[in-house]
Amino acid sequence: MNDVIHLLPDHVANQIAAGEVVQRPASVIKELLENAIDARANSIKVIIKEAGKILIQVIDDGAGMSLTDARLCFERHATSKISAAEDLFSLKTKGFRGEALASIAAIAHVELKTRQEGDEVGTCIKIEGSEVVSQEPVVTPVGTSICVKNLFYNIPARRNFLKSDAVETRHIIDEFQRVALAHPTIQFSLFHNGSEIFQLPGTNYRQRIVNIFGGKTNEKLVPVEEDTEIVKIHGFVGKPEFAKRSRGEQFFFVNDRFIKSPYLNHAVVAAFEGLLKDKAYPSYFLYLDVDPKSIDINIHPTKTEIKFDDEHALYSILRSSIKHSLGQFNVAPVLDFERDATLDTPYEFNQKGVTPPKVEVDRNFNPFQESNSVSGSYRPSGFRKESSGGSWESLYSGLQQKEFGTRNSEMNSMEFESDEVTGNLFGSSEEKESGNRTFQLNKKYIVSTLKSGILVIDQHRAHTRILYEELLKSITVTAAVSQQLLFPLMLQFSSQEIALLKEAKESLEQTGFVFSEFSKDSVEIIGIPTLISESEVAILLEQLLSDLENEVPESGFSQADILAKSLAKGMAVKSGTVLNNTEQQNILNSLFACKETNLTPYNRQIFITLTVDELDKKFM
Ligand code: ADP
Ligand code: MG
Repeated sequence: MNDVIHLLPDHVANQIAAGEVVQRPASVIKELLENAIDARANSIKVIIKEAGKILIQVIDDGAGMSLTDARLCFERHATSKISAAEDLFSLKTKGFRGEALASIAAIAHVELKTRQEGDEVGTCIKIEGSEVVSQEPVVTPVGTSICVKNLFYNIPARRNFLKSDAVETRHIIDEFQRVALAHPTIQFSLFHNGSEIFQLPGTNYRQRIVNIFGGKTNEKLVPVEEDTEIVKIHGFVGKPEFAKRSRGEQFFFVNDRFIKSPYLNHAVVAAFEGLLKDKAYPSYFLYLDVDPKSIDINIHPTKTEIKFDDEHALYSILRSSIKHSLGQFNVAPVLDFERDATLDTPYEFNQKGVTPPKVEVDRNFNPFQESNSVSGSYRPSGFRKESSGGSWESLYSGLQQKEFGTRNSEMNSMEFESDEVTGNLFGSSEEKESGNRTFQLNKKYIVSTLKSGILVIDQHRAHTRILYEELLKSITVTAAVSQQLLFPLMLQFSSQEIALLKEAKESLEQTGFVFSEFSKDSVEIIGIPTLISESEVAILLEQLLSDLENEVPESGFSQADILAKSLAKGMAVKSGTVLNNTEQQNILNSLFACKETNLTPYNRQIFITLTVDELDKKFM
């Protein structure tokens, strides 16, 4: 009989385990930052090269390690943070599993330099793929510096799996921000390929948020504060009117640890009920302090999910305290977000002169006169009298006629189309000019007749396609014209957003934007594309930034393409917008002049047709 079972060598076991702890450079950053915080550092510096694929270095001024600890820390299950299983229920530190350093050392070239207060010299250890290459004394400041080079050098599959530098850097920045937000009193800095991305001095919570997300954030924050037996809550929610179109700035921290919780997120959204427009996400930075005994943070290997003992209570406390804050800080419901166009004065009426209402006084009226008394039925008799009948109705008569007029012409166009057929898809040019071959359905669809049936076009999608092709052309071939602003427009952004805008500057200018100045946290705009209004610029750029941040460059799209798509989406007429006949015609004609007519740049269907044959079948 052959025995086939054997224990895996340590370095193999470590490599396998590493897969769970280290998915990408950002995971290394997270572990190293947490170790530095557990070592009570006051200042932490992060240096990365090529999105952490070449180098990740974290330097702290914390407690440092002794000579033996420096060696031991790379062993699996080597930790100074817990010693018995019970300790798991009273955790005050970030780490406790004792596997981060062992895992990292198994899949990279690691150099550790560390010194404790009171020791004259420190120690420097080099490890490659779990093998200690050298350990020697070194002159180094108190604290620890860890260099992780060539991540996944011995697992090519993993290395190839990494995303572009832009995406990996995004992940690193996310982790960095989460840790920095949880620990505002600690000073943090981040450098990428030699340039400074963040320089965050030690401060309070509010200022830390502002330092990370830009000066404009300050005015948007509403403080939240609640103190109960179960939980202490502090932090901020963003004012509803600044809610973002993407879930960017949503942060929960439980006992100083960033967590994700769809359930608690729901509590926040519930508190904002009625204050947000569709598809807007509130920002929040909420810090919850609970008894460590009442949570289990061990259910997820990367520890961003958490189990609470009393989730329901937490939900209601969170919801009501945010509601209270929003109320207290005078954040009134934002009415009128999506104006119902049916309530607007009809266009025809806008142009009508104002006719002052006539006041007619019945001088003979005597309330005490018998015949006019309330005896019998008290009712606004005037409405029943033939003589006054029609006077109030006549107020609307002009409108009715006008409405009837348009409706009639729509009817006509349909009847007309059905008995006369032209060779051209959309009729001859005179007919186009007469502008009576389309009508709008539900403020959403443009309906037109075809030689062989009917055509139903989604107005927003069609316009998106048209603008997309125009924008792409102006970005890549001929620049579009721009409209000069009377007063320069100053918009505030975070430093990351500014960096993204700078990258996109040239393309944006091709579409008609004119930037006069970029500062650290704002841009000044003096010209905008002719197709948009000044009030739309901020929303459009915000949407663009979130698209640029979230678009994965691997998908093969160029920046110009992302830009054109995003701007087109933002500039296109929305469903719910009433279009007049000329506008409907213009969309129809421009759509069919596009290179692609059937799909939006987001691959959604633009129109459907219903042929006479199909109609005939329905009538069988
Ligand atoms: P854990 O954090 O779960 O204990 P790690 O593998 O991350 O496991 O670290 C192992 C041990 O190494 C820690 O418990 C700590 O004692 C020590 N250590 C790691 N990083 C540092 C640091 N930056 N400063 C001081 N000690 C550290
Ligand atoms: Mg750790």
